[in-house]
Amino acid sequence: MSIQNEYLNGLMERVIKRDPAEPEFHQAVREVLTSLAPVANARPELIKEGVMDCLVEPERTIKFRVPWEDDQGNIHVNRGYRIQFNSAIGPYKGGLRFHPSVNESIIKFLGFEQTFKNSLTGLPIGGGKGGSDFDPKGKSEAEVMRFCQSFMNELFKYIGPDTDVPAGDIGVGAREIGYLFGQYKRLRNEFTGVLTGKGLTYGGSLARKEATGYGLCYFTDNMLRDAGKSFDGAAVVISGSGNVATYACEKAAQLGGRVVAMSDSNGYIYDKDGIDLNLMKEIKEVERARIKEYAARRPGAEYHEGCTGIWQVPCQIALPCATQNELPLEGAKALIKNGCFAVAEGANMPTTPEAMDALQEAGVLFAPAKASNAGGVAVSALEMSQNSMRFSWTFEEVDQRLLTIMTDLYHNASRAAEQYGLAGNLVAGANIAGFLKVADSMLAYGLV
Ligand code: NDP
Repeated sequence: MSIQNEYLNGLMERVIKRDPAEPEFHQAVREVLTSLAPVANARPELIKEGVMDCLVEPERTIKFRVPWEDDQGNIHVNRGYRIQFNSAIGPYKGGLRFHPSVNESIIKFLGFEQTFKNSLTGLPIGGGKGGSDFDPKGKSEAEVMRFCQSFMNELFKYIGPDTDVPAGDIGVGAREIGYLFGQYKRLRNEFTGVLTGKGLTYGGSLARKEATGYGLCYFTDNMLRDAGKSFDGAAVVISGSGNVATYACEKAAQLGGRVVAMSDSNGYIYDKDGIDLNLMKEIKEVERARIKEYAARRPGAEYHEGCTGIWQVPCQIALPCATQNELPLEGAKALIKNGCFAVAEGANMPTTPEAMDALQEAGVLFAPAKASNAGGVAVSALEMSQNSMRFSWTFEEVDQRLLTIMTDLYHNASRAAEQYGLAGNLVAGANIAGFLKVADSMLAYGLV
Protein backbone atom coordinates (compact mmCIF):
# COMPACT_ATOMS: atom_id res chain seq x y z
CA MET A 1 0.00 0.00 0.00
CA SER A 2 1.70 3.24 -1.07
CA ILE A 3 1.16 6.49 0.81
CA GLN A 4 -0.65 9.03 -1.37
CA ASN A 5 1.65 11.92 -0.49
CA GLU A 6 5.20 12.25 -1.76
CA TYR A 7 6.59 13.85 1.39
CA LEU A 8 5.05 11.23 3.68
CA ASN A 9 6.43 8.47 1.43
CA GLY A 10 9.90 9.93 1.90
CA LEU A 11 9.30 10.25 5.63
CA MET A 12 8.35 6.58 5.80
CA GLU A 13 11.59 5.68 4.04
CA ARG A 14 13.58 7.79 6.50
CA VAL A 15 11.85 6.12 9.47
CA ILE A 16 12.88 2.70 8.13
CA LYS A 17 16.44 3.82 7.33
CA ARG A 18 16.93 5.37 10.75
CA ASP A 19 15.84 2.25 12.68
CA PRO A 20 15.87 -0.66 10.23
CA ALA A 21 15.34 -3.34 12.90
CA GLU A 22 11.93 -2.09 14.10
CA PRO A 23 9.28 -3.86 11.98
CA GLU A 24 6.39 -3.35 14.41
CA PHE A 25 7.09 0.37 14.58
CA HIS A 26 7.29 0.62 10.78
CA GLN A 27 3.97 -1.21 10.47
CA ALA A 28 2.23 1.20 12.86
CA VAL A 29 3.74 4.31 11.24
CA ARG A 30 2.88 3.15 7.72
CA GLU A 31 -0.75 2.61 8.65
CA VAL A 32 -1.04 6.05 10.21
CA LEU A 33 0.81 7.94 7.45
CA THR A 34 -1.34 6.21 4.82
CA SER A 35 -4.46 7.47 6.58
CA LEU A 36 -3.02 10.95 7.05
CA ALA A 37 -2.15 11.53 3.39
CA PRO A 38 -5.44 13.33 2.62
CA VAL A 39 -4.92 15.58 5.67
CA ALA A 40 -1.34 16.41 4.70
CA ASN A 41 -2.53 17.15 1.14
CA ALA A 42 -5.19 19.53 2.46
CA ARG A 43 -2.95 21.16 5.08
CA PRO A 44 0.62 21.54 3.76
CA GLU A 45 1.61 23.63 6.81
CA LEU A 46 1.69 20.41 8.84
CA ILE A 47 4.65 19.29 6.76
CA LYS A 48 6.29 22.72 6.53
CA GLU A 49 6.17 23.27 10.29
CA GLY A 50 7.75 19.87 10.99
CA VAL A 51 4.69 18.33 12.67
CA MET A 52 4.81 15.14 10.63
CA ASP A 53 8.53 14.61 11.25
CA CYS A 54 8.15 15.22 15.00
CA LEU A 55 5.16 12.91 15.15
CA VAL A 56 7.19 9.81 14.23
CA GLU A 57 10.08 10.47 16.62
CA PRO A 58 9.60 9.91 20.39
CA GLU A 59 10.24 12.94 22.59
CA ARG A 60 12.38 10.74 24.82
CA THR A 61 13.52 7.09 25.02
CA ILE A 62 14.63 5.76 28.37
CA LYS A 63 16.36 2.39 28.44
CA PHE A 64 17.79 0.86 31.59
CA ARG A 65 18.99 -2.33 33.19
CA VAL A 66 16.89 -4.11 35.80
CA PRO A 67 18.92 -6.43 38.04
CA TRP A 68 17.01 -8.75 40.39
CA GLU A 69 17.64 -11.81 42.52
CA ASP A 70 15.65 -15.05 42.23
CA ASP A 71 14.63 -17.25 45.15
CA GLN A 72 17.81 -19.34 44.80
CA GLY A 73 20.04 -16.29 45.11
CA ASN A 74 20.93 -16.11 41.38
CA ILE A 75 21.19 -12.65 39.81
CA HIS A 76 19.35 -11.87 36.56
CA VAL A 77 19.52 -8.72 34.47
CA ASN A 78 16.58 -7.67 32.33
CA ARG A 79 16.13 -4.58 30.21
CA GLY A 80 13.60 -1.87 31.04
CA TYR A 81 12.09 0.78 28.75
CA ARG A 82 9.95 3.87 28.97
CA ILE A 83 9.27 5.69 25.73
CA GLN A 84 7.73 9.12 26.24
CA PHE A 85 6.32 9.59 22.81
CA ASN A 86 4.25 12.74 22.68
CA SER A 87 3.13 15.17 25.39
CA ALA A 88 1.40 17.74 23.16
CA ILE A 89 -1.98 17.34 24.84
CA GLY A 90 -1.09 16.13 28.35
CA PRO A 91 1.27 14.08 30.50
CA TYR A 92 2.55 10.88 28.89
CA LYS A 93 0.18 8.02 29.60
CA GLY A 94 0.35 4.37 28.62
CA GLY A 95 0.94 0.92 30.02
CA LEU A 96 3.93 -1.16 31.05
CA ARG A 97 4.33 -4.57 29.40
CA PHE A 98 6.31 -7.40 30.98
CA HIS A 99 6.81 -10.12 28.36
CA PRO A 100 9.88 -11.88 26.93
CA SER A 101 9.10 -10.51 23.45
CA VAL A 102 9.44 -6.87 24.58
CA ASN A 103 12.02 -4.82 22.66
CA GLU A 104 12.41 -1.22 21.56
CA SER A 105 10.39 -1.70 18.36
CA ILE A 106 7.39 -3.06 20.25
CA ILE A 107 7.43 -0.37 22.93
CA LYS A 108 7.87 2.30 20.27
CA PHE A 109 4.93 1.10 18.19
CA LEU A 110 2.78 0.94 21.30
CA GLY A 111 3.80 4.46 22.40
CA PHE A 112 3.13 5.81 18.91
CA GLU A 113 -0.33 4.23 18.79
CA GLN A 114 -1.06 5.41 22.31
CA THR A 115 -0.63 9.05 21.27
CA PHE A 116 -3.58 8.85 18.88
CA LYS A 117 -5.66 6.64 21.12
CA ASN A 118 -5.32 8.99 24.07
CA SER A 119 -6.23 11.95 21.91
CA LEU A 120 -9.33 10.12 20.68
CA THR A 121 -10.64 9.71 24.23
CA GLY A 122 -11.11 13.49 24.35
CA LEU A 123 -9.16 13.57 27.63
CA PRO A 124 -5.94 15.55 28.23
CA ILE A 125 -3.34 12.77 28.05
CA GLY A 126 -0.23 12.34 25.92
CA GLY A 127 1.25 9.07 24.67
CA GLY A 128 3.88 6.81 26.19
CA LYS A 129 4.59 3.14 26.80
CA GLY A 130 7.13 1.05 28.68
CA GLY A 131 8.00 -2.39 29.88
CA SER A 132 10.60 -5.07 30.14
CA ASP A 133 11.58 -8.41 28.61
CA PHE A 134 11.01 -9.95 32.06
CA ASP A 135 8.62 -12.92 32.00
CA PRO A 136 6.40 -13.03 35.11
CA LYS A 137 5.18 -16.51 34.13
CA GLY A 138 6.48 -19.18 36.48
CA LYS A 139 8.02 -16.65 38.88
CA SER A 140 7.21 -16.67 42.59
CA GLU A 141 5.37 -13.75 44.24
CA ALA A 142 8.62 -12.70 45.90
CA GLU A 143 10.51 -12.74 42.58
CA VAL A 144 7.82 -10.64 40.88
CA MET A 145 7.95 -8.20 43.80
CA ARG A 146 11.75 -7.88 43.69
CA PHE A 147 11.67 -7.37 39.94
CA CYS A 148 8.99 -4.65 40.18
CA GLN A 149 10.89 -2.86 42.92
CA SER A 150 14.12 -2.91 40.93
CA PHE A 151 12.27 -1.68 37.82
CA MET A 152 10.84 1.24 39.78
CA ASN A 153 14.23 2.06 41.33
CA GLU A 154 15.15 3.47 37.94
CA LEU A 155 11.77 4.43 36.47
CA PHE A 156 10.77 6.72 39.35
CA LYS A 157 13.23 9.38 38.15
CA TYR A 158 11.25 9.93 34.97
CA ILE A 159 7.59 9.73 35.98
CA GLY A 160 5.15 11.76 38.10
CA PRO A 161 1.45 12.62 38.23
CA ASP A 162 1.91 15.64 35.93
CA THR A 163 4.74 14.17 33.84
CA ASP A 164 4.13 10.54 32.99
CA VAL A 165 1.56 8.15 34.46
CA PRO A 166 2.15 4.47 33.55
CA ALA A 167 -0.47 1.71 33.86
CA GLY A 168 -0.68 -2.05 33.23
CA ASP A 169 -0.54 -4.00 29.99
CA ILE A 170 0.39 -7.61 29.15
CA GLY A 171 1.95 -9.21 32.21
CA VAL A 172 1.30 -6.19 34.42
CA GLY A 173 -1.92 -6.47 36.39
CA ALA A 174 -3.10 -5.31 39.81
CA ARG A 175 -0.40 -7.31 41.63
CA GLU A 176 2.48 -5.73 39.69
CA ILE A 177 0.95 -2.23 39.88
CA GLY A 178 0.79 -2.66 43.68
CA TYR A 179 4.49 -3.48 43.94
CA LEU A 180 5.43 -0.68 41.54
CA PHE A 181 3.30 1.91 43.33
CA GLY A 182 4.59 0.82 46.74
CA GLN A 183 8.18 1.30 45.63
CA TYR A 184 7.45 4.69 44.05
CA LYS A 185 5.79 5.86 47.26
CA ARG A 186 8.76 4.67 49.30
CA LEU A 187 11.31 6.38 47.05
CA ARG A 188 9.48 9.69 46.66
CA ASN A 189 7.76 9.82 50.04
CA GLU A 190 4.58 11.02 48.40
CA PHE A 191 1.15 9.57 47.72
CA THR A 192 0.10 10.66 44.24
CA GLY A 193 -1.72 9.23 41.27
CA VAL A 194 1.51 8.28 39.50
CA LEU A 195 0.22 4.92 38.28
CA THR A 196 -3.25 3.83 37.23
CA GLY A 197 -4.85 0.43 37.59
CA LYS A 198 -4.20 0.67 41.32
CA GLY A 199 -6.04 -1.44 43.89
CA LEU A 200 -9.29 -0.01 45.22
CA THR A 201 -7.90 0.44 48.74
CA TYR A 202 -5.14 2.81 47.59
CA GLY A 203 -6.56 5.07 44.91
CA GLY A 204 -7.74 2.76 42.14
CA SER A 205 -10.89 3.45 40.16
CA LEU A 206 -13.92 1.21 40.11
CA ALA A 207 -14.48 -0.23 36.62
CA ARG A 208 -10.81 0.19 35.56
CA LYS A 209 -10.38 -3.57 35.45
CA GLU A 210 -13.42 -3.92 33.22
CA ALA A 211 -12.79 -0.78 31.15
CA THR A 212 -10.91 -2.01 28.07
CA GLY A 213 -13.14 -5.04 27.48
CA TYR A 214 -16.37 -3.18 28.24
CA GLY A 215 -15.25 -0.18 26.16
CA LEU A 216 -14.46 -2.48 23.24
CA CYS A 217 -18.01 -3.84 23.31
CA TYR A 218 -19.55 -0.36 23.67
CA PHE A 219 -17.61 0.79 20.61
CA THR A 220 -18.52 -2.36 18.68
CA ASP A 221 -22.17 -2.00 19.64
CA ASN A 222 -22.24 1.52 18.16
CA MET A 223 -20.55 0.31 14.98
CA LEU A 224 -22.96 -2.62 14.66
CA ARG A 225 -26.03 -0.47 15.25
CA ASP A 226 -24.99 2.01 12.56
CA ALA A 227 -24.93 -0.96 10.18
CA GLY A 228 -28.30 -2.28 11.37
CA LYS A 229 -26.77 -5.18 13.30
CA SER A 230 -26.21 -6.07 16.96
CA PHE A 231 -24.58 -8.47 19.41
CA ASP A 232 -27.96 -10.01 20.07
CA GLY A 233 -27.87 -13.72 19.22
CA ALA A 234 -24.47 -13.46 17.51
CA ALA A 235 -21.73 -16.07 18.02
CA VAL A 236 -18.61 -14.27 19.24
CA VAL A 237 -14.98 -15.44 19.17
CA ILE A 238 -12.52 -13.73 21.52
CA SER A 239 -8.80 -14.47 21.42
CA GLY A 240 -6.77 -14.26 24.64
CA SER A 241 -8.03 -14.84 28.16
CA GLY A 242 -6.34 -12.00 30.01
CA ASN A 243 -7.75 -8.73 31.27
CA VAL A 244 -9.14 -7.41 27.99
CA ALA A 245 -10.54 -10.73 26.77
CA THR A 246 -12.23 -11.57 30.08
CA TYR A 247 -14.20 -8.34 30.33
CA ALA A 248 -14.95 -8.25 26.61
CA CYS A 249 -16.48 -11.68 27.14
CA GLU A 250 -18.55 -10.42 30.09
CA LYS A 251 -19.94 -7.38 28.24
CA ALA A 252 -20.49 -9.20 24.93
CA ALA A 253 -22.63 -11.73 26.81
CA GLN A 254 -24.54 -8.94 28.61
CA LEU A 255 -25.29 -7.40 25.21
CA GLY A 256 -26.79 -10.67 24.01
CA GLY A 257 -23.80 -12.29 22.30
CA ARG A 258 -22.81 -15.95 22.79
CA VAL A 259 -19.04 -16.17 23.27
CA VAL A 260 -18.01 -19.58 21.94
CA ALA A 261 -14.20 -19.50 21.95
CA MET A 262 -11.27 -18.02 23.89
CA SER A 263 -7.52 -18.75 23.91
CA ASP A 264 -4.10 -18.38 25.47
CA SER A 265 -0.72 -18.61 23.81
CA ASN A 266 -0.85 -22.43 23.87
CA GLY A 267 -4.28 -23.15 22.44
CA TYR A 268 -7.97 -22.33 22.34
CA ILE A 269 -11.18 -23.68 23.79
CA TYR A 270 -14.49 -24.04 21.99
CA ASP A 271 -17.69 -24.09 24.03
CA LYS A 272 -20.76 -24.17 21.81
CA ASP A 273 -23.07 -23.41 24.75
CA GLY A 274 -21.31 -20.14 25.50
CA ILE A 275 -18.35 -19.57 27.83
CA ASP A 276 -18.99 -20.02 31.55
CA LEU A 277 -17.25 -16.81 32.62
CA ASN A 278 -17.20 -17.63 36.33
CA LEU A 279 -15.25 -20.80 35.59
CA MET A 280 -12.94 -18.91 33.23
CA LYS A 281 -12.25 -16.22 35.84
CA GLU A 282 -11.55 -18.86 38.48
CA ILE A 283 -9.00 -20.55 36.22
CA LYS A 284 -7.31 -17.47 34.77
CA GLU A 285 -7.65 -14.79 37.46
CA VAL A 286 -7.53 -16.82 40.67
CA GLU A 287 -5.49 -19.93 39.81
CA ARG A 288 -3.42 -18.29 37.01
CA ALA A 289 -3.69 -21.68 35.23
CA ARG A 290 -3.73 -22.50 31.49
CA ILE A 291 -6.92 -22.31 29.43
CA LYS A 292 -6.71 -26.05 28.78
CA GLU A 293 -8.09 -26.47 32.32
CA TYR A 294 -11.40 -24.96 31.18
CA ALA A 295 -12.12 -27.85 28.80
CA ALA A 296 -11.11 -30.35 31.46
CA ARG A 297 -13.73 -28.97 33.86
CA ARG A 298 -16.59 -27.94 31.56
CA PRO A 299 -18.66 -30.74 30.01
CA GLY A 300 -19.03 -30.32 26.25
CA ALA A 301 -16.12 -27.88 25.85
CA GLU A 302 -13.18 -28.76 23.58
CA TYR A 303 -9.51 -27.79 23.80
CA HIS A 304 -7.39 -27.38 20.66
CA GLU A 305 -3.63 -27.03 20.73
CA GLY A 306 -2.25 -23.94 18.89
CA CYS A 307 -3.69 -20.46 19.28
CA THR A 308 -4.18 -19.39 15.63
CA GLY A 309 -6.79 -22.10 14.99
CA ILE A 310 -9.32 -19.97 16.88
CA TRP A 311 -10.13 -17.98 13.73
CA GLN A 312 -11.47 -21.15 12.09
CA VAL A 313 -14.31 -21.24 14.64
CA PRO A 314 -17.47 -19.98 12.87
CA CYS A 315 -18.72 -16.68 14.32
CA GLN A 316 -20.43 -13.43 13.37
CA ILE A 317 -18.26 -11.19 15.55
CA ALA A 318 -14.52 -11.62 16.25
CA LEU A 319 -12.70 -9.71 18.98
CA PRO A 320 -8.91 -10.26 18.86
CA CYS A 321 -7.83 -9.42 22.43
CA ALA A 322 -4.43 -11.14 22.87
CA THR A 323 -1.43 -9.52 21.18
CA GLN A 324 0.00 -7.85 18.06
CA ASN A 325 -0.23 -9.58 14.67
CA GLU A 326 -2.22 -12.52 16.06
CA LEU A 327 -4.85 -12.36 13.29
CA PRO A 328 -3.08 -13.18 10.00
CA LEU A 329 -4.47 -13.29 6.46
CA GLU A 330 -5.33 -16.98 6.77
CA GLY A 331 -7.42 -16.23 9.86
CA ALA A 332 -9.16 -13.33 8.15
CA LYS A 333 -10.04 -15.53 5.16
CA ALA A 334 -11.56 -18.15 7.48
CA LEU A 335 -13.63 -15.48 9.26
CA ILE A 336 -14.92 -14.12 5.95
CA LYS A 337 -15.74 -17.60 4.65
CA ASN A 338 -17.69 -18.41 7.82
CA GLY A 339 -19.86 -15.28 7.61
CA CYS A 340 -18.21 -13.05 10.20
CA PHE A 341 -19.64 -9.52 9.83
CA ALA A 342 -17.56 -7.56 12.35
CA VAL A 343 -14.01 -7.58 13.70
CA ALA A 344 -13.15 -5.22 16.55
CA GLU A 345 -9.62 -5.04 17.94
CA GLY A 346 -9.21 -5.32 21.70
CA ALA A 347 -5.46 -5.94 21.59
CA ASN A 348 -3.05 -3.42 20.07
CA MET A 349 -2.45 -4.00 16.33
CA PRO A 350 -3.65 -7.63 16.44
CA THR A 351 -4.58 -7.72 12.74
CA THR A 352 -1.79 -7.91 10.16
CA PRO A 353 -2.03 -5.33 7.32
CA GLU A 354 -2.89 -8.06 4.78
CA ALA A 355 -5.64 -9.42 7.02
CA MET A 356 -7.04 -5.93 7.57
CA ASP A 357 -7.14 -5.26 3.79
CA ALA A 358 -8.91 -8.59 3.19
CA LEU A 359 -11.54 -7.89 5.87
CA GLN A 360 -12.23 -4.37 4.64
CA GLU A 361 -12.41 -5.48 1.01
CA ALA A 362 -14.92 -8.19 1.98
CA GLY A 363 -17.10 -5.53 3.64
CA VAL A 364 -16.54 -6.80 7.18
CA LEU A 365 -17.08 -3.98 9.70
CA PHE A 366 -13.66 -3.23 11.20
CA ALA A 367 -12.90 -1.36 14.43
CA PRO A 368 -9.22 -0.42 14.84
CA ALA A 369 -7.54 -0.82 18.24
CA LYS A 370 -6.63 2.77 18.79
CA ALA A 371 -10.31 3.59 18.82
CA SER A 372 -11.97 0.42 20.02
CA ASN A 373 -9.64 -0.41 22.92
CA ALA A 374 -9.33 3.16 24.21
CA GLY A 375 -11.68 2.44 27.11
CA GLY A 376 -8.84 1.29 29.37
CA VAL A 377 -6.83 4.43 29.06
CA ALA A 378 -9.99 6.54 29.26
CA VAL A 379 -10.83 5.10 32.67
CA SER A 380 -7.17 5.44 33.66
CA ALA A 381 -7.55 9.16 32.96
CA LEU A 382 -10.72 9.12 35.09
CA GLU A 383 -8.64 7.45 37.82
CA MET A 384 -6.17 10.36 37.56
CA SER A 385 -9.04 12.84 37.93
CA GLN A 386 -10.39 11.02 40.98
CA ASN A 387 -6.89 10.93 42.53
CA SER A 388 -6.46 14.68 41.96
CA MET A 389 -9.83 15.39 43.55
CA ARG A 390 -9.16 12.82 46.33
CA PHE A 391 -12.60 11.50 45.60
CA SER A 392 -14.08 8.37 43.99
CA TRP A 393 -17.01 7.78 41.72
CA THR A 394 -19.26 4.72 41.95
CA PHE A 395 -18.94 1.83 39.49
CA GLU A 396 -22.09 3.01 37.70
CA GLU A 397 -20.79 6.58 37.36
CA VAL A 398 -17.48 5.43 35.85
CA ASP A 399 -19.20 2.91 33.58
CA GLN A 400 -21.62 5.59 32.36
CA ARG A 401 -18.73 7.95 31.57
CA LEU A 402 -16.97 5.11 29.74
CA LEU A 403 -20.07 4.44 27.65
CA THR A 404 -20.34 8.14 26.76
CA ILE A 405 -16.63 8.35 25.87
CA MET A 406 -16.74 5.25 23.64
CA THR A 407 -19.94 6.41 21.93
CA ASP A 408 -18.48 9.88 21.23
CA LEU A 409 -15.25 8.29 20.10
CA TYR A 410 -17.07 6.10 17.59
CA HIS A 411 -18.95 9.07 16.16
CA ASN A 412 -15.81 11.24 15.97
CA ALA A 413 -13.87 8.57 14.08
CA SER A 414 -16.81 7.90 11.81
CA ARG A 415 -17.30 11.62 11.10
CA ALA A 416 -13.60 12.23 10.41
CA ALA A 417 -13.60 9.38 7.87
CA GLU A 418 -16.62 10.89 6.16
CA GLN A 419 -15.09 14.39 6.08
CA TYR A 420 -12.07 13.11 4.18
CA GLY A 421 -14.14 11.10 1.69
CA LEU A 422 -13.52 7.75 3.37
CA ALA A 423 -16.95 7.03 4.87
CA GLY A 424 -17.09 3.75 6.78
CA ASN A 425 -13.30 3.46 7.05
CA LEU A 426 -12.82 3.65 10.82
CA VAL A 427 -9.08 2.93 10.51
CA ALA A 428 -8.59 6.18 8.61
CA GLY A 429 -11.20 8.02 10.69
CA ALA A 430 -9.53 7.10 14.00
CA ASN A 431 -6.08 8.03 12.74
CA ILE A 432 -7.28 11.38 11.40
CA ALA A 433 -9.43 12.33 14.41
CA GLY A 434 -6.69 11.32 16.87
CA PHE A 435 -4.04 13.16 14.88
CA LEU A 436 -5.75 16.52 14.39
CA LYS A 437 -5.91 17.45 18.08
CA VAL A 438 -2.28 16.48 18.64
CA ALA A 439 -1.12 18.23 15.46
CA ASP A 440 -2.95 21.49 16.21
CA SER A 441 -1.45 21.54 19.71
CA MET A 442 2.03 20.94 18.28
CA LEU A 443 1.51 23.78 15.81
CA ALA A 444 0.42 26.09 18.63
CA TYR A 445 3.66 25.47 20.53
CA GLY A 446 5.89 26.31 17.57
CA LEU A 447 9.04 24.30 17.01
CA VAL A 448 10.11 23.09 20.45
P1 NDP B 1 -2.94 -10.00 29.74
O1 NDP B 1 -1.53 -10.26 30.06
O2 NDP B 1 -3.93 -9.85 30.83
O3 NDP B 1 -3.50 -11.14 28.76
C1 NDP B 1 -2.93 -11.45 27.53
C2 NDP B 1 -3.62 -12.70 27.03
O4 NDP B 1 -3.28 -12.98 25.69
C3 NDP B 1 -3.23 -13.93 27.83
O5 NDP B 1 -4.36 -14.75 27.91
C4 NDP B 1 -2.15 -14.56 26.95
O6 NDP B 1 -1.97 -15.94 27.15
C5 NDP B 1 -2.78 -14.31 25.62
N1 NDP B 1 -1.83 -14.40 24.50
C6 NDP B 1 -0.59 -13.88 24.39
N2 NDP B 1 -0.09 -14.14 23.18
C7 NDP B 1 -1.04 -14.85 22.53
C8 NDP B 1 -1.13 -15.39 21.24
N3 NDP B 1 -0.14 -15.29 20.37
N4 NDP B 1 -2.29 -16.02 20.93
C9 NDP B 1 -3.30 -16.15 21.78
N5 NDP B 1 -3.25 -15.66 23.03
C10 NDP B 1 -2.14 -15.03 23.39
O7 NDP B 1 -2.94 -8.71 28.80
P2 NDP B 1 -4.14 -7.70 28.50
O8 NDP B 1 -5.42 -8.43 28.40
O9 NDP B 1 -4.02 -6.56 29.43
O10 NDP B 1 -3.70 -7.15 27.07
C11 NDP B 1 -4.04 -7.80 25.85
C12 NDP B 1 -3.87 -6.86 24.69
O11 NDP B 1 -4.69 -5.70 24.89
C13 NDP B 1 -2.46 -6.31 24.48
O12 NDP B 1 -2.26 -6.08 23.10
C14 NDP B 1 -2.51 -4.97 25.19
O13 NDP B 1 -1.54 -4.06 24.70
C15 NDP B 1 -3.91 -4.52 24.83
N6 NDP B 1 -4.49 -3.50 25.70
C16 NDP B 1 -4.65 -3.72 27.04
C17 NDP B 1 -5.26 -2.76 27.83
C18 NDP B 1 -5.57 -2.99 29.26
O14 NDP B 1 -6.26 -2.15 29.85
N7 NDP B 1 -5.14 -4.09 29.86
C19 NDP B 1 -5.63 -1.45 27.26
C20 NDP B 1 -5.51 -1.36 25.84
C21 NDP B 1 -4.91 -2.35 25.10
P3 NDP B 1 -0.71 -16.52 27.96
O15 NDP B 1 -1.16 -16.54 29.38
O16 NDP B 1 -0.52 -17.87 27.35
O17 NDP B 1 0.45 -15.60 27.71
